[in-house]
Amino acid sequence: MTRRPGFPVRLPGSAPLPAVRRVGSGAPPAAPAAPAGLGLDSQAVRSRMVHKLAAQGIADARVLAAMNAVERHRFVDTALGNQAYEDTSLPIGWAQTISKPSVVARMIELLLAGRTGADGRLGRVLEVGTGCGYQAAVLSHVASEVYSIERLRGLHERARENLRAFRLANVHLLFGDGMAGFAKGAPYAGIIAAAGGEAVPAAWTDQLADGGRIVAPMVMPHGQQALIVLEKSGGALRQSVLEGVHFVPLKSGIA
Ligand code: SAH
Repeated sequence: MTRRPGFPVRLPGSAPLPAVRRVGSGAPPAAPAAPAGLGLDSQAVRSRMVHKLAAQGIADARVLAAMNAVERHRFVDTALGNQAYEDTSLPIGWAQTISKPSVVARMIELLLAGRTGADGRLGRVLEVGTGCGYQAAVLSHVASEVYSIERLRGLHERARENLRAFRLANVHLLFGDGMAGFAKGAPYAGIIAAAGGEAVPAAWTDQLADGGRIVAPMVMPHGQQALIVLEKSGGALRQSVLEGVHFVPLKSGIA
């Protein structure tokens, strides 16, 4: 893939909820600066990353296009910019990390699972653990609305700054404990967690639409994390346990 996909940035989706702070409001952003620390065309580096993702088995064209579109180097410290397109997790401050691209792509592919709405996108998605906002930006290309919640105020503010220049009208950043979900945005077609807990909170399954999916890291009885997929169908839940992963812990409360 060598061309940037022509995704519309502004979507005709449903009306925003009043209580939600919207990214991209306020003063118009300055033109994005040249990629810092990369020293070469970031689109070319990103395309190489996407080719590798495809070679590793990511098959959903919507996921590959979204990964190709979002400039990951803008979400990490300038000093780490030259590592932004390597398949590695990176520190984002506050003792948290941005997930590696292959894991972001894999989880979003699982979330979509071939499902599309009339506009070719998934409906409303809840992301638990905004972190630096990178995955929220990727999700904004494949979902009609993205509600992303973060429990650390500093990271919530950082994500808001990071995302401002992208002007993603369908990303709604929330500060709070994502273990309670975000009832005002429910029901969700998908819920994706970027932090691993011992169990899936009841709020998430309650706020999941019928036919919806939860993709999350979860601590297994042997103490290691694995990705799980929970599908809700006819009110019943079906859980699949997939590969092992390493995520930061899901914590309750705000800080
Ligand atoms: N998706 C992020 C990854 C962030 S790491 C990105 O693209 O950068 C996971 C994040 O989950 C951390 O920022 C952590 O503070 C947050 N987190 C952990 N428990 C949480 C909870 N209960 N509610 C909201 N966020 C939580």
